[in-house]
Amino acid sequence: NPSVRRHLERLAAEGIDVVRVTYPDLIGTERARDVLLDHLPAACEHGLAFCRAVYHTSPQGDTVAVSGGLDAGLPDIRVAPDLTTLTPLPWEAGVATCLGDVVDPATGRPAPESPRDLLRAVVARCREHGLRPVIGPELEYFLCDAAPGLARGWRRYSDAQGVVYTAGLRADPDNHLLRTLRLLRDLDIGVSSGNHEYDGAQFEINLTHADAMTAADRAFRFKAAVKELARLEGRLATFMAKPFNDAGGSGFHLHLSCLDERGGNVFDDPAAPHGLSATARHAVAGVLAHAPALTALANPTVNSYKRFGPDTLAPWLVDWGLDNRSAMVRVPPERGAGSRFELRLGDAGANPYLLIAGTLAAALLGVLAGEEPPAPLEGYGYDATRSAVLPATLPAALDALEADTALTEVLGKDFTTAYLAYKRDEVARFHRHVTDWEFTEYAYHL
Ligand code: GLU
Ligand code: MG
Ligand code: MG
Repeated sequence: NPSVRRHLERLAAEGIDVVRVTYPDLIGTERARDVLLDHLPAACEHGLAFCRAVYHTSPQGDTVAVSGGLDAGLPDIRVAPDLTTLTPLPWEAGVATCLGDVVDPATGRPAPESPRDLLRAVVARCREHGLRPVIGPELEYFLCDAAPGLARGWRRYSDAQGVVYTAGLRADPDNHLLRTLRLLRDLDIGVSSGNHEYDGAQFEINLTHADAMTAADRAFRFKAAVKELARLEGRLATFMAKPFNDAGGSGFHLHLSCLDERGGNVFDDPAAPHGLSATARHAVAGVLAHAPALTALANPTVNSYKRFGPDTLAPWLVDWGLDNRSAMVRVPPERGAGSRFELRLGDAGANPYLLIAGTLAAALLGVLAGEEPPAPLEGYGYDATRSAVLPATLPAALDALEADTALTEVLGKDFTTAYLAYKRDEVARFHRHVTDWEFTEYAYHL
């Protein structure tokens, strides 16, 4: 294949001898094989074999297969490297990474539980209706230092008190953010800026807007890269939703707009109320209508629901507002090419592909149904007498997803079945586990 050969020659000339082929699994974890350059042509021709079971990441040990699991003898999936995504790793000489697509060898077709293919299918649905979604991701995370004496093994990085937007050494004594920003720039994933967040040791880094698949690929690579760079510092970067009781959670905000086929922003209409087009209103209404089901994808862990709540800057209610950070959907003040909404629902632990696919599916359903949102919220957002409360637990969110047949029709039956099976097993494992809270609450008095 001449195109593979061209890539190979270029890589060799750049001193690359290993290609790390990665793909996102169902929960958005990076799965990879390091392939020696000489073997890349064979990998491109046949695909790389991976075991199909999806492993959960906690150290407890069980595996959960989403389909074709132990009962079927753990058959292979094949991962086809996508050489258009080849990028040298700035911090590891001689290594380039590329993304792969998951193929089911039994059918020769994309595996139904593959997040990239799910997003591709949802974007194609949007395109059928003349909409080209544009996404801008913002991700927050906590940085931890090793603390071998503590049960968790990690404590929050730096003793600096958390004051949002404190730049430099006062909040980041080891210059973690600067180092990370520069290396991420060299990875070429559209990183624009970073800042210290509300809580000590919490950072946010923003990615420039791009078409939905590019944005998801970048957010996926971003999370893996930040975790890897933290390891290089001997640290742990975590995107879990709410790692500490005495600090807020980490969000994964999504800025969403849609272009028409000529590149105009279809959310903009200077003549309409608030300067927002009917399409924008319908899209917001769709996200509100499908929010309970969407939480299952945007807030995918048992821990996610501890981030929600009044007075958190994370959402708690299903509502929207104009430049109002206490609402689940915020419409930033820019108009014209910048007309968009910011969905503040997702937490940083979400699989970027599933969060984006679910949001687009909900918005598209709103547009197709011509749904209208209620009047935008004004002032303080956390008023449960005005708006419905989001699901309070992962099991409630999973039930809402299963019950939302319009949304699951867009996401596909195979994906939904695999996702619900995997996540319900996670819930069951959590409920079997005795937590620190239970011991503290019960052991003394009972
Ligand atoms: N950390 C908040 C969240 O969980 C968001 C804070 C902010 O507005 O940047 O969503
Ligand atoms: Mg933030
Ligand atoms: Mg934001």
